[in-house]
Amino acid sequence: MNEKLILLLCDYFRKLILNIPDDLDKNQVKEKINDEIKEKIRNRSNGTCELCNNYDSKKIHHIIPNGPATEENLIDLCNHCHDAIHLLLFTFKKWKFPYKPQHFRG
Ligand SMILES: [Zn+2]
Ligand SMILES: [Zn+2]
Repeated sequence: MNEKLILLLCDYFRKLILNIPDDLDKNQVKEKINDEIKEKIRNRSNGTCELCNNYDSKKIHHIIPNGPATEENLIDLCNHCHDAIHLLLFTFKKWKFPYKPQHFRG
């Protein structure tokens, strides 16, 4: 992994956390991703993580956690980047669910 990519990643995570409002309605359920939009996202990512470009994408993630299931609010991630985002979301109290790493799930 090159240094530029690391900087881009850090910048992305920083912006992501800063852009999520503190007053999200945490009771609102996130919009489900339908097959049509899933197809569009998977075509866009080509099956590779849209953040690190290093691993296969495994999870389509809602950028604003209870936001709409639109192309703008969805990103196709590998398990590593997805775990990192959820750790940050939880650490900065941006979302209600605790951090559960994918890698330690059965
Ligand atoms: Zn990744
Ligand atoms: Zn997610």
